Amino acid sequence: MANQEIARRRTFAIIAHPDAGKTSLTEKLLLFGGQIQVAGAVKSNKIKKTATSDWMDIEKQRGISVTTSVMEFDYHDYKINILDTPGHQDFAEDTYRTLTAVDSVIIVVDGAKGVESQTRKLMEVCRMRNTPVIIFVNKMDREAKDPFDLLDELEEELVINVRPLTWPIESGPRFKGVYNIYEQKLNLFQPSKQVVTEKVEVDIHTEDLDNHIGTPLAEKLRSELELIEGVYPEFNVDDYLKGELAPVFFGSALNNFGVQELLDCFVEIAPSPRPVQAEERIVMPEEPKFTGFVFKITANIDPNHRSCVAFCKVCSGKFTRNTPYLHVRHNKTMRFSSPTQFMAQRKTTVDEAWAGDIIGLPDNGTFKIGDTLTEGEILHFKGLPSFSPEMFKYIENADPMKTKQLNKGIDQLMDEGVAQLFINQFNGRKIIGTVGQLQFEVIQYRLENEYNAKCRWEPLSLYKACWIESDDPAELEAFKKRKYQYMAKDRDGRDVFLADSGYVLQMAQMDFKHIKFHFTSEF
Ligand code: GDP
Repeated sequence: MANQEIARRRTFAIIAHPDAGKTSLTEKLLLFGGQIQVAGAVKSNKIKKTATSDWMDIEKQRGISVTTSVMEFDYHDYKINILDTPGHQDFAEDTYRTLTAVDSVIIVVDGAKGVESQTRKLMEVCRMRNTPVIIFVNKMDREAKDPFDLLDELEEELVINVRPLTWPIESGPRFKGVYNIYEQKLNLFQPSKQVVTEKVEVDIHTEDLDNHIGTPLAEKLRSELELIEGVYPEFNVDDYLKGELAPVFFGSALNNFGVQELLDCFVEIAPSPRPVQAEERIVMPEEPKFTGFVFKITANIDPNHRSCVAFCKVCSGKFTRNTPYLHVRHNKTMRFSSPTQFMAQRKTTVDEAWAGDIIGLPDNGTFKIGDTLTEGEILHFKGLPSFSPEMFKYIENADPMKTKQLNKGIDQLMDEGVAQLFINQFNGRKIIGTVGQLQFEVIQYRLENEYNAKCRWEPLSLYKACWIESDDPAELEAFKKRKYQYMAKDRDGRDVFLADSGYVLQMAQMDFKHIKFHFTSEF
Protein backbone atom coordinates (compact mmCIF):
# COMPACT_ATOMS: atom_id res chain seq x y z
CA MET A 1 0.00 0.00 0.00
CA ALA A 2 2.67 2.51 1.05
CA ASN A 3 4.89 1.65 -1.88
CA GLN A 4 1.98 1.96 -4.29
CA GLU A 5 1.01 5.34 -2.92
CA ILE A 6 4.54 6.61 -3.24
CA ALA A 7 5.15 5.13 -6.68
CA ARG A 8 2.14 6.90 -8.14
CA ARG A 9 3.23 10.35 -7.00
CA ARG A 10 4.77 12.91 -9.32
CA THR A 11 5.93 16.08 -7.61
CA PHE A 12 7.27 18.72 -9.94
CA ALA A 13 7.51 22.40 -10.75
CA ILE A 14 7.02 24.29 -13.97
CA ILE A 15 9.71 26.86 -14.50
CA ALA A 16 9.88 29.52 -17.13
CA HIS A 17 10.89 33.04 -17.87
CA PRO A 18 7.90 35.32 -17.20
CA ASP A 19 5.38 35.27 -20.06
CA ALA A 20 6.64 32.05 -21.63
CA GLY A 21 3.33 30.39 -20.73
CA LYS A 22 3.69 28.77 -17.33
CA THR A 23 0.24 29.82 -16.16
CA SER A 24 -1.39 28.68 -19.39
CA LEU A 25 0.31 25.30 -19.20
CA THR A 26 -0.57 24.85 -15.52
CA GLU A 27 -4.17 25.60 -16.36
CA LYS A 28 -4.30 23.01 -19.12
CA LEU A 29 -2.78 20.40 -16.86
CA LEU A 30 -5.42 21.15 -14.25
CA LEU A 31 -8.07 20.77 -16.94
CA PHE A 32 -6.82 17.27 -17.69
CA GLY A 33 -6.88 16.51 -14.02
CA GLY A 34 -10.50 17.61 -13.83
CA GLN A 35 -9.57 20.16 -11.21
CA ILE A 36 -11.05 22.96 -13.25
CA GLN A 37 -13.72 22.73 -15.88
CA VAL A 38 -13.08 25.60 -18.21
CA ALA A 39 -10.10 27.18 -19.83
CA GLY A 40 -9.47 30.60 -18.39
CA ALA A 41 -10.19 29.51 -14.85
CA VAL A 42 -6.64 29.79 -13.68
CA LYS A 43 -6.25 33.27 -15.02
CA SER A 44 -9.42 34.42 -13.37
CA ASN A 45 -8.41 32.56 -10.27
CA LYS A 46 -5.19 34.53 -10.31
CA ILE A 47 -7.16 37.75 -10.26
CA LYS A 48 -9.61 36.53 -7.70
CA LYS A 49 -6.80 35.35 -5.53
CA THR A 50 -5.27 38.77 -5.61
CA ALA A 51 -8.52 40.30 -4.54
CA THR A 52 -9.42 37.93 -1.76
CA SER A 53 -6.49 36.17 -0.32
CA ASP A 54 -3.13 37.55 -1.22
CA TRP A 55 -1.06 38.42 1.69
CA MET A 56 0.12 41.84 0.76
CA ASP A 57 -1.13 44.95 -0.89
CA ILE A 58 2.13 45.15 -2.75
CA GLU A 59 1.11 42.07 -4.63
CA LYS A 60 -2.18 43.63 -5.56
CA GLN A 61 -0.60 46.84 -6.66
CA ARG A 62 1.89 45.11 -8.82
CA GLY A 63 -0.33 42.30 -9.96
CA ILE A 64 2.32 39.71 -9.57
CA SER A 65 2.13 36.45 -7.81
CA VAL A 66 4.65 36.35 -5.02
CA THR A 67 3.79 33.23 -3.13
CA THR A 68 4.46 29.71 -4.16
CA SER A 69 1.44 27.51 -3.95
CA VAL A 70 0.86 23.85 -4.51
CA MET A 71 -1.76 22.30 -6.73
CA GLU A 72 -2.56 18.64 -6.72
CA PHE A 73 -4.72 16.45 -8.88
CA ASP A 74 -5.22 12.88 -9.99
CA TYR A 75 -4.60 11.85 -13.56
CA HIS A 76 -5.21 8.22 -14.52
CA ASP A 77 -3.54 6.35 -11.68
CA TYR A 78 -1.15 9.13 -10.82
CA LYS A 79 -1.25 11.69 -8.09
CA ILE A 80 0.32 14.86 -9.37
CA ASN A 81 1.65 17.69 -7.22
CA ILE A 82 2.54 20.87 -9.08
CA LEU A 83 4.55 23.36 -7.11
CA ASP A 84 3.91 26.78 -8.49
CA THR A 85 6.81 29.19 -8.54
CA PRO A 86 6.71 32.96 -8.53
CA GLY A 87 7.40 34.29 -11.99
CA HIS A 88 8.88 37.57 -10.87
CA GLN A 89 12.64 37.38 -10.82
CA ASP A 90 12.92 39.35 -7.59
CA PHE A 91 11.55 36.24 -5.95
CA ALA A 92 13.94 33.84 -7.64
CA GLU A 93 15.27 32.73 -4.28
CA ASP A 94 11.82 31.40 -3.51
CA THR A 95 11.87 29.43 -6.71
CA TYR A 96 15.31 28.03 -5.93
CA ARG A 97 14.02 26.69 -2.65
CA THR A 98 10.92 25.26 -4.25
CA LEU A 99 13.19 23.34 -6.60
CA THR A 100 14.64 21.54 -3.59
CA ALA A 101 11.22 20.03 -2.93
CA VAL A 102 10.47 18.68 -6.40
CA ASP A 103 11.50 15.43 -8.02
CA SER A 104 11.44 16.78 -11.55
CA VAL A 105 10.82 19.91 -13.57
CA ILE A 106 9.07 21.00 -16.76
CA ILE A 107 10.70 23.97 -18.43
CA VAL A 108 8.53 26.14 -20.66
CA VAL A 109 10.31 28.01 -23.41
CA ASP A 110 8.75 30.55 -25.75
CA GLY A 111 9.34 29.23 -29.27
CA ALA A 112 10.01 32.70 -30.63
CA LYS A 113 12.25 33.91 -27.83
CA GLY A 114 14.13 30.73 -27.06
CA VAL A 115 16.08 30.46 -23.82
CA GLU A 116 15.74 33.59 -21.68
CA SER A 117 17.71 34.77 -18.66
CA GLN A 118 15.46 33.43 -15.93
CA THR A 119 15.28 30.00 -17.56
CA ARG A 120 19.05 29.82 -17.69
CA LYS A 121 19.40 30.65 -14.02
CA LEU A 122 16.76 28.20 -12.87
CA MET A 123 18.30 25.48 -14.97
CA GLU A 124 21.57 26.02 -13.11
CA VAL A 125 19.80 25.12 -9.91
CA CYS A 126 18.32 22.01 -11.53
CA ARG A 127 21.76 21.03 -12.72
CA MET A 128 23.23 21.38 -9.23
CA ARG A 129 20.74 18.81 -8.05
CA ASN A 130 20.60 16.62 -11.18
CA THR A 131 16.87 17.23 -11.39
CA PRO A 132 15.31 15.53 -14.43
CA VAL A 133 13.83 18.08 -16.84
CA ILE A 134 11.36 17.95 -19.70
CA ILE A 135 11.21 20.92 -22.05
CA PHE A 136 8.01 22.26 -23.58
CA VAL A 137 8.51 24.67 -26.47
CA ASN A 138 5.42 26.83 -26.35
CA LYS A 139 3.59 29.27 -28.63
CA MET A 140 4.16 27.30 -31.83
CA ASP A 141 0.97 28.92 -33.15
CA ARG A 142 3.10 32.04 -33.41
CA GLU A 143 6.07 32.46 -35.69
CA ALA A 144 8.81 30.50 -33.95
CA LYS A 145 12.53 29.97 -34.43
CA ASP A 146 13.63 27.06 -36.59
CA PRO A 147 13.20 23.94 -34.43
CA PHE A 148 16.71 22.65 -35.10
CA ASP A 149 18.14 26.02 -34.11
CA LEU A 150 15.99 25.90 -31.00
CA LEU A 151 17.34 22.48 -30.04
CA ASP A 152 20.91 23.73 -30.48
CA GLU A 153 20.12 26.74 -28.37
CA LEU A 154 18.56 24.61 -25.64
CA GLU A 155 21.59 22.33 -25.54
CA GLU A 156 24.03 25.18 -25.47
CA GLU A 157 22.26 27.54 -23.13
CA LEU A 158 20.88 25.00 -20.70
CA VAL A 159 23.93 22.73 -20.86
CA ILE A 160 21.96 19.52 -21.29
CA ASN A 161 21.49 17.00 -24.07
CA VAL A 162 18.11 17.14 -25.74
CA ARG A 163 15.95 14.69 -27.64
CA PRO A 164 12.75 15.80 -29.42
CA LEU A 165 9.82 13.48 -28.78
CA THR A 166 7.40 15.51 -30.88
CA TRP A 167 8.24 17.56 -33.92
CA PRO A 168 6.48 20.70 -35.16
CA ILE A 169 5.24 21.08 -38.69
CA GLU A 170 5.85 24.76 -39.39
CA SER A 171 4.81 27.49 -36.98
CA GLY A 172 2.71 30.64 -36.82
CA PRO A 173 -0.13 30.89 -39.35
CA ARG A 174 1.31 27.90 -41.23
CA PHE A 175 1.42 25.71 -38.13
CA LYS A 176 -0.05 22.32 -39.03
CA GLY A 177 0.57 20.45 -35.81
CA VAL A 178 3.14 18.11 -34.39
CA TYR A 179 4.27 14.65 -35.27
CA ASN A 180 4.49 12.48 -32.17
CA ILE A 181 7.75 10.63 -32.65
CA TYR A 182 7.10 8.62 -29.53
CA GLU A 183 3.71 7.27 -30.59
CA GLN A 184 4.21 7.72 -34.33
CA LYS A 185 1.01 9.69 -34.63
CA LEU A 186 0.21 12.88 -36.40
CA ASN A 187 -1.41 15.47 -34.21
CA LEU A 188 -3.20 18.05 -36.32
CA PHE A 189 -3.67 21.59 -35.15
CA GLN A 190 -7.01 23.19 -35.79
CA PRO A 191 -6.81 26.82 -34.88
CA SER A 192 -10.49 27.35 -35.44
CA LYS A 193 -11.50 24.75 -32.92
CA GLN A 194 -8.68 25.59 -30.55
CA VAL A 195 -9.29 23.03 -27.83
CA VAL A 196 -9.95 19.86 -29.72
CA THR A 197 -7.02 18.26 -31.45
CA GLU A 198 -7.34 15.62 -34.06
CA LYS A 199 -4.93 12.74 -33.71
CA VAL A 200 -4.43 10.48 -36.66
CA GLU A 201 -2.32 7.45 -37.02
CA VAL A 202 -0.28 7.79 -40.17
CA ASP A 203 2.54 5.86 -41.61
CA ILE A 204 4.83 8.71 -42.54
CA HIS A 205 6.26 6.68 -45.39
CA THR A 206 2.95 6.48 -47.19
CA GLU A 207 0.88 9.02 -49.11
CA ASP A 208 -1.37 9.20 -46.14
CA LEU A 209 0.92 11.87 -44.73
CA ASP A 210 0.77 13.87 -47.98
CA ASN A 211 -3.00 13.75 -47.85
CA HIS A 212 -3.02 15.33 -44.42
CA ILE A 213 -0.43 18.06 -44.74
CA GLY A 214 0.37 18.28 -48.44
CA THR A 215 3.34 16.86 -50.29
CA PRO A 216 5.89 19.65 -49.75
CA LEU A 217 5.43 19.61 -45.98
CA ALA A 218 5.24 15.82 -45.93
CA GLU A 219 8.57 15.60 -47.67
CA LYS A 220 10.10 18.17 -45.41
CA LEU A 221 8.84 16.31 -42.34
CA ARG A 222 10.21 12.99 -43.58
CA SER A 223 13.64 14.41 -44.13
CA GLU A 224 13.60 16.26 -40.81
CA LEU A 225 12.62 13.10 -38.95
CA GLU A 226 15.39 11.25 -40.70
CA LEU A 227 17.82 13.93 -39.64
CA ILE A 228 16.57 13.71 -36.04
CA GLU A 229 17.07 9.96 -35.97
CA GLY A 230 20.55 10.45 -37.37
CA VAL A 231 21.64 13.26 -35.07
CA TYR A 232 19.96 12.55 -31.76
CA PRO A 233 20.46 9.27 -29.92
CA GLU A 234 17.45 7.18 -28.97
CA PHE A 235 15.60 8.58 -26.01
CA ASN A 236 16.96 6.94 -22.91
CA VAL A 237 14.92 7.22 -19.71
CA ASP A 238 17.91 6.58 -17.46
CA ASP A 239 19.78 9.52 -18.93
CA TYR A 240 16.69 11.63 -18.38
CA LEU A 241 16.43 10.48 -14.76
CA LYS A 242 20.09 11.33 -14.18
CA GLY A 243 19.38 14.86 -15.38
CA GLU A 244 21.61 14.47 -18.41
CA LEU A 245 19.02 14.34 -21.17
CA ALA A 246 15.89 16.42 -21.65
CA PRO A 247 13.05 15.24 -23.89
CA VAL A 248 11.55 18.12 -25.86
CA PHE A 249 7.88 18.66 -26.78
CA PHE A 250 6.41 21.33 -29.04
CA GLY A 251 2.96 22.82 -28.74
CA SER A 252 0.75 25.67 -27.72
CA ALA A 253 -0.41 25.89 -24.13
CA LEU A 254 -2.97 28.55 -24.92
CA ASN A 255 -4.60 26.29 -27.51
CA ASN A 256 -4.20 23.20 -25.36
CA PHE A 257 -2.18 21.72 -28.15
CA GLY A 258 0.56 19.21 -27.45
CA VAL A 259 -0.14 19.36 -23.74
CA GLN A 260 -1.68 15.93 -23.35
CA GLU A 261 1.28 14.33 -25.12
CA LEU A 262 3.51 16.12 -22.65
CA LEU A 263 1.43 15.02 -19.68
CA ASP A 264 1.15 11.41 -20.81
CA CYS A 265 4.86 11.14 -21.30
CA PHE A 266 5.53 13.01 -18.09
CA VAL A 267 3.55 10.64 -15.84
CA GLU A 268 5.21 7.69 -17.50
CA ILE A 269 8.84 8.76 -17.28
CA ALA A 270 9.02 11.35 -14.50
CA PRO A 271 10.40 10.00 -11.24
CA SER A 272 8.29 9.17 -8.24
CA PRO A 273 9.65 10.68 -5.00
CA ARG A 274 13.40 10.30 -4.93
CA PRO A 275 15.69 9.51 -2.01
CA VAL A 276 16.66 12.61 -0.05
CA GLN A 277 20.10 13.28 1.37
CA ALA A 278 20.21 14.18 5.04
CA GLU A 279 23.44 15.06 6.82
CA GLU A 280 23.21 11.81 8.75
CA ARG A 281 22.14 9.43 5.96
CA ILE A 282 20.10 9.00 2.81
CA VAL A 283 16.38 8.82 3.48
CA MET A 284 14.38 6.53 1.21
CA PRO A 285 10.79 7.52 0.43
CA GLU A 286 9.48 4.02 1.14
CA GLU A 287 10.76 4.00 4.70
CA PRO A 288 7.81 3.42 7.03
CA LYS A 289 8.56 6.34 9.32
CA PHE A 290 7.57 9.86 8.46
CA THR A 291 10.23 12.48 7.78
CA GLY A 292 9.88 15.85 6.09
CA PHE A 293 11.41 19.29 5.79
CA VAL A 294 10.13 22.83 5.50
CA PHE A 295 11.16 24.44 2.22
CA LYS A 296 8.97 27.47 2.22
CA ILE A 297 7.08 29.70 4.59
CA THR A 298 4.45 32.15 3.47
CA ALA A 299 2.77 34.71 5.61
CA ASN A 300 -0.85 35.70 5.73
CA ILE A 301 -2.32 33.56 3.04
CA ASP A 302 -5.55 34.36 4.80
CA PRO A 303 -5.58 38.06 5.69
CA ASN A 304 -8.12 37.44 8.46
CA HIS A 305 -5.69 35.30 10.35
CA ARG A 306 -2.27 36.80 10.44
CA SER A 307 -0.55 33.46 10.63
CA CYS A 308 1.98 31.82 8.39
CA VAL A 309 1.95 28.53 6.59
CA ALA A 310 5.06 26.38 6.53
CA PHE A 311 5.20 24.15 3.47
CA CYS A 312 6.62 20.76 4.32
CA LYS A 313 7.72 18.18 1.80
CA VAL A 314 7.11 14.65 3.02
CA CYS A 315 10.37 12.79 2.33
CA SER A 316 9.47 9.37 3.64
CA GLY A 317 6.64 7.36 5.07
CA LYS A 318 3.23 8.68 5.92
CA PHE A 319 2.32 11.88 7.70
CA THR A 320 -0.76 11.56 9.88
CA ARG A 321 -2.82 14.38 11.35
CA ASN A 322 -2.74 14.83 15.14
CA THR A 323 0.29 12.63 15.58
CA PRO A 324 3.25 13.75 17.67
CA TYR A 325 6.31 14.52 15.56
CA LEU A 326 9.73 15.75 16.54
CA HIS A 327 10.71 19.27 15.51
CA VAL A 328 14.40 18.47 15.36
CA ARG A 329 15.86 21.97 15.72
CA HIS A 330 13.72 22.75 18.78
CA ASN A 331 13.94 19.19 20.09
CA LYS A 332 10.25 19.53 20.76
CA THR A 333 7.29 17.29 20.02
CA MET A 334 4.51 18.87 18.01
CA ARG A 335 1.12 17.76 16.74
CA PHE A 336 -0.71 19.25 13.83
CA SER A 337 -4.46 19.30 14.02
CA SER A 338 -5.13 21.19 10.83
CA PRO A 339 -2.54 20.40 8.17
CA THR A 340 -3.72 21.43 4.71
CA GLN A 341 -3.34 20.32 1.18
CA PHE A 342 -4.07 22.47 -1.79
CA MET A 343 -6.38 21.78 -4.64
CA ALA A 344 -6.50 24.12 -7.60
CA GLN A 345 -8.76 26.64 -6.01
CA ARG A 346 -9.19 25.61 -2.42
CA LYS A 347 -7.36 24.13 0.46
CA THR A 348 -8.56 21.24 2.53
CA THR A 349 -7.54 19.63 5.78
CA VAL A 350 -5.71 16.38 5.25
CA ASP A 351 -5.62 13.35 7.50
CA GLU A 352 -2.63 11.77 5.90
CA ALA A 353 -0.01 12.48 3.30
CA TRP A 354 2.64 10.30 1.69
CA ALA A 355 6.21 10.79 0.64
CA GLY A 356 6.19 13.21 -2.28
CA ASP A 357 3.27 15.23 -0.98
CA ILE A 358 3.41 18.79 0.25
CA ILE A 359 1.50 19.74 3.35
CA GLY A 360 0.84 23.18 4.74
CA LEU A 361 1.42 23.49 8.48
CA PRO A 362 0.08 26.46 10.38
CA ASP A 363 3.03 28.33 11.76
CA ASN A 364 3.45 31.16 14.17
CA GLY A 365 7.16 31.53 14.20
CA THR A 366 8.12 27.96 15.13
CA PHE A 367 9.50 27.07 11.73
CA LYS A 368 12.51 28.14 9.80
CA ILE A 369 13.43 27.19 6.24
CA GLY A 370 15.13 23.80 6.35
CA ASP A 371 13.54 22.59 9.60
CA THR A 372 13.09 18.85 9.83
CA LEU A 373 10.19 16.85 11.28
CA THR A 374 10.59 13.17 12.13
CA GLU A 375 9.12 10.45 14.31
CA GLY A 376 12.03 10.90 16.71
CA GLU A 377 15.18 10.47 14.68
CA ILE A 378 17.67 13.32 14.62
CA LEU A 379 17.95 14.25 10.96
CA HIS A 380 19.00 17.35 9.09
CA PHE A 381 18.08 17.49 5.44
CA LYS A 382 20.61 19.04 3.15
CA GLY A 383 20.11 20.86 -0.07
CA LEU A 384 18.59 24.15 0.88
CA PRO A 385 21.37 26.49 -0.08
CA SER A 386 21.24 30.23 0.18
CA PHE A 387 22.56 31.93 -2.91
CA SER A 388 24.76 34.94 -2.82
CA PRO A 389 22.37 37.89 -2.94
CA GLU A 390 22.64 40.46 -5.67
CA MET A 391 21.54 43.60 -3.87
CA PHE A 392 22.57 44.83 -0.46
CA LYS A 393 21.39 47.55 1.89
CA TYR A 394 22.04 48.51 5.47
CA ILE A 395 18.87 48.24 7.48
CA GLU A 396 18.43 50.93 10.13
CA ASN A 397 15.85 51.44 12.83
CA ALA A 398 13.58 54.36 11.99
CA ASP A 399 11.66 54.28 15.27
CA PRO A 400 13.91 53.97 18.34
CA MET A 401 10.90 53.08 20.53
CA LYS A 402 10.37 49.90 18.52
CA THR A 403 13.80 48.31 18.53
CA LYS A 404 12.55 45.05 19.98
CA GLN A 405 9.77 44.77 17.43
CA LEU A 406 12.18 45.52 14.62
CA ASN A 407 14.65 42.87 15.69
CA LYS A 408 11.94 40.29 16.12
CA GLY A 409 10.49 41.15 12.72
CA ILE A 410 13.85 40.92 10.99
CA ASP A 411 14.53 37.61 12.69
CA GLN A 412 11.27 36.04 11.65
CA LEU A 413 11.37 37.36 8.11
CA MET A 414 14.85 35.89 7.72
CA ASP A 415 13.58 32.58 9.11
CA GLU A 416 10.97 32.65 6.38
CA GLY A 417 13.73 33.15 3.86
CA VAL A 418 12.50 36.50 2.59
CA ALA A 419 16.10 37.73 2.39
CA GLN A 420 19.47 37.16 4.01
CA LEU A 421 20.97 38.96 6.96
CA PHE A 422 24.66 39.61 7.42
CA ILE A 423 26.31 41.42 10.31
CA ASN A 424 29.27 43.50 9.33
CA GLN A 425 32.02 42.53 11.80
CA PHE A 426 33.73 45.89 11.47
CA ASN A 427 30.90 48.27 12.33
CA GLY A 428 28.29 45.86 13.68
CA ARG A 429 25.67 47.06 11.22
CA LYS A 430 22.99 44.82 9.82
CA ILE A 431 23.03 44.21 6.09
CA ILE A 432 20.10 42.75 4.19
CA GLY A 433 20.89 40.96 0.95
CA THR A 434 18.23 40.17 -1.65
CA VAL A 435 17.95 39.11 -5.27
CA GLY A 436 15.72 42.02 -6.20
CA GLN A 437 14.61 45.51 -5.25
CA LEU A 438 11.07 44.36 -4.56
CA GLN A 439 12.13 42.33 -1.56
CA PHE A 440 13.28 45.47 0.25
CA GLU A 441 9.78 46.85 -0.20
CA VAL A 442 8.26 43.60 1.00
CA ILE A 443 10.41 43.68 4.13
CA GLN A 444 9.65 47.30 4.92
CA TYR A 445 5.94 46.76 4.35
CA ARG A 446 5.76 43.66 6.45
CA LEU A 447 7.83 45.12 9.29
CA GLU A 448 5.34 47.96 9.51
CA ASN A 449 2.20 45.92 9.09
CA GLU A 450 3.02 42.83 11.05
CA TYR A 451 5.55 43.98 13.62
CA ASN A 452 4.67 47.62 14.02
CA ALA A 453 8.29 48.54 13.39
CA LYS A 454 9.82 51.03 11.02
CA CYS A 455 12.99 50.59 9.06
CA ARG A 456 15.09 52.78 6.84
CA TRP A 457 17.46 51.62 4.10
CA GLU A 458 20.91 52.93 3.50
CA PRO A 459 22.63 52.25 0.24
CA LEU A 460 25.53 49.87 0.15
CA SER A 461 27.34 49.09 -3.01
CA LEU A 462 28.52 45.51 -3.00
CA TYR A 463 29.23 43.08 -5.79
CA LYS A 464 28.78 39.77 -4.01
CA ALA A 465 28.78 38.10 -0.63
CA CYS A 466 30.83 34.90 -0.57
CA TRP A 467 31.10 32.30 2.10
CA ILE A 468 34.76 31.58 2.73
CA GLU A 469 36.59 28.60 4.14
CA SER A 470 40.13 27.29 4.13
CA ASP A 471 42.17 24.31 5.24
CA ASP A 472 44.84 26.77 6.24
CA PRO A 473 43.69 28.57 9.41
CA ALA A 474 46.62 30.96 9.33
CA GLU A 475 45.79 32.12 5.82
CA LEU A 476 42.14 32.49 6.75
CA GLU A 477 43.12 34.68 9.70
CA ALA A 478 45.44 36.71 7.53
CA PHE A 479 42.66 37.23 5.01
CA LYS A 480 40.17 38.29 7.65
CA LYS A 481 42.68 40.72 9.04
CA ARG A 482 43.47 42.23 5.68
CA LYS A 483 39.78 42.53 4.75
CA TYR A 484 38.46 43.37 8.21
CA GLN A 485 36.21 46.12 6.91
CA TYR A 486 34.55 43.71 4.53
CA MET A 487 34.05 40.73 6.79
CA ALA A 488 30.59 39.74 7.95
CA LYS A 489 28.86 36.82 9.61
CA ASP A 490 25.70 35.17 8.34
CA ARG A 491 22.97 34.07 10.73
CA ASP A 492 24.71 30.77 11.34
CA GLY A 493 27.90 32.55 12.34
CA ARG A 494 29.77 31.65 9.18
CA ASP A 495 32.37 33.92 7.68
CA VAL A 496 31.23 35.94 4.71
CA PHE A 497 33.39 38.19 2.57
CA LEU A 498 31.65 41.22 1.13
CA ALA A 499 33.37 41.96 -2.15
CA ASP A 500 32.65 45.43 -3.44
CA SER A 501 33.68 44.67 -7.01
CA GLY A 502 34.42 41.78 -9.29
CA TYR A 503 37.98 43.00 -9.52
CA VAL A 504 38.48 42.97 -5.75
CA LEU A 505 37.11 39.46 -5.59
CA GLN A 506 39.40 38.30 -8.37
CA MET A 507 42.43 39.82 -6.65
CA ALA A 508 41.46 38.19 -3.37
CA GLN A 509 41.16 34.81 -5.09
CA MET A 510 44.60 35.28 -6.59
CA ASP A 511 46.29 36.47 -3.41
CA PHE A 512 44.79 33.84 -1.15
CA LYS A 513 45.13 30.60 -3.02
CA HIS A 514 44.01 28.33 -0.19
CA ILE A 515 40.81 30.13 0.53
CA LYS A 516 37.69 28.86 -1.16
CA PHE A 517 35.08 31.46 -2.09
CA HIS A 518 31.58 29.99 -2.31
CA PHE A 519 28.60 31.63 -3.94
CA THR A 520 26.08 29.40 -2.24
CA SER A 521 25.94 28.72 1.46
CA GLU A 522 26.12 24.98 0.98
CA PHE A 523 29.40 23.42 0.02
P1 GDP B 1 3.58 33.01 -17.54
O1 GDP B 1 3.98 34.41 -17.23
O2 GDP B 1 4.77 32.17 -17.90
O3 GDP B 1 2.71 32.38 -16.53
O4 GDP B 1 2.78 33.09 -18.93
P2 GDP B 1 1.22 33.06 -19.23
O5 GDP B 1 0.71 31.68 -19.27
O6 GDP B 1 0.52 34.05 -18.36
O7 GDP B 1 1.27 33.57 -20.74
C1 GDP B 1 1.79 34.82 -21.11
C2 GDP B 1 1.07 35.34 -22.34
O8 GDP B 1 1.32 34.47 -23.43
C3 GDP B 1 -0.43 35.37 -22.16
O9 GDP B 1 -0.92 36.51 -22.82
C4 GDP B 1 -0.90 34.10 -22.85
O10 GDP B 1 -2.21 34.23 -23.34
C5 GDP B 1 0.11 33.97 -23.96
N1 GDP B 1 0.31 32.56 -24.36
C6 GDP B 1 0.55 31.49 -23.56
N2 GDP B 1 0.65 30.36 -24.29
C7 GDP B 1 0.48 30.72 -25.58
C8 GDP B 1 0.45 29.99 -26.81
O11 GDP B 1 0.62 28.79 -26.87
N3 GDP B 1 0.24 30.73 -27.94
C9 GDP B 1 0.06 32.07 -27.93
N4 GDP B 1 -0.15 32.68 -29.08
N5 GDP B 1 0.06 32.78 -26.78
C10 GDP B 1 0.26 32.12 -25.63
